[in-house]
Amino acid sequence: MVIRNSRIRGFASDTNAGICPEAWEALDRANRGHAPAYGFDSHTQEARAAIQDIFGTDCQVYFVFTGSAANSLAVAHLCRSYELAICHETAHLDLGECGGPEFFSGGSKVLPLPGEHGRLDAAGIRNAVETRTRDFQYPAPRLVSLTQATEAGTVYSLEQLREISHLCRELGLRVHMDGARLANALVHLGCEPADTTWRAGVDVLSFGCTKNGLPQGEAVVFFDRELASGFEYRWKQSGQVASKMRFLSAPWTALLKSGAWLRNARHANACAARLEQGLRPLEGISLSCPREANGVFVRLRPALAAALRQRGWTVGVMPGGAARFMCSWDTRDEDVDALIRDFRELVAEP
Ligand SMILES: *Cc1c(COP(=O)(O)O)cnc(C)c1O
Repeated sequence: MVIRNSRIRGFASDTNAGICPEAWEALDRANRGHAPAYGFDSHTQEARAAIQDIFGTDCQVYFVFTGSAANSLAVAHLCRSYELAICHETAHLDLGECGGPEFFSGGSKVLPLPGEHGRLDAAGIRNAVETRTRDFQYPAPRLVSLTQATEAGTVYSLEQLREISHLCRELGLRVHMDGARLANALVHLGCEPADTTWRAGVDVLSFGCTKNGLPQGEAVVFFDRELASGFEYRWKQSGQVASKMRFLSAPWTALLKSGAWLRNARHANACAARLEQGLRPLEGISLSCPREANGVFVRLRPALAAALRQRGWTVGVMPGGAARFMCSWDTRDEDVDALIRDFRELVAEP
């Protein structure tokens, strides 16, 4: 499907943004001459070290092509075919990966649970485990996957994360984090990368920066190195070992070392805050969730959504009915203001 008449810098998805300058320059530098293939190159070593450095721990890092691959392979590596992974009902893991976690694990069940504002909560997880998993007629619970920031534009607080991971420890469950927007969550929380991951009980992280300025690629990060045992085979078997891996890995180093990953995320969050401020006063417009990261989720009458589309905006409606407006590392104030202006004019129409 070709989307016509879409604005150059729209709000349909932060994945629609391009490559940020720091990452682009790193690609150019990595392109000077030959380097060993399959990750045995210095660029990939440096990128692994940069990730270990920001998390302040000796984690095990594997670069893959997509967030779907990172999630699917992480879940598959932790769950046997008869085990259960729990996620939120809006999670990419369940809705956006075409059964990848189930496929790569050879049959694990993914159980989506409701929870306010895109977040799972400890009581809901406990209830699901205790009511469903009495004996071997139901898959054995093994893993909880948390999306940080969530698909609803909210962020788990450190307290919420700790409460869930304590429960997981009590129930013998491992914790996976889908960090496709981890940087947006970090700048919202104002905490260290370690605080919202391994110090909060996260065992494995799908770390993404594609939405935050990278050209492509995610990293599977095992904070518990023992859990990574054998992962390199799964990585290769699934076709995720890039032959010219330096072009996946080198931009990571540039983004992390320069601080651009946090600058970009702070910028995207600030644009979303500007959009929120512009929309809040408008009659008949309300947010479906508090705005905490780089997305604004708005309850829209279908007629208003249609009118916005007529003015060239791509308006994506999420499961649950809210329209999603995502800001990116390269969103400009004038883009935000143009959208607010159109909202204001359309809301005022009889
Ligand atoms: C974008 C996204 C992903 C990864 O998507 P890919 O398109 O497969 O790279 C994973 N989880 C969340 C929450 C996302 O927003």
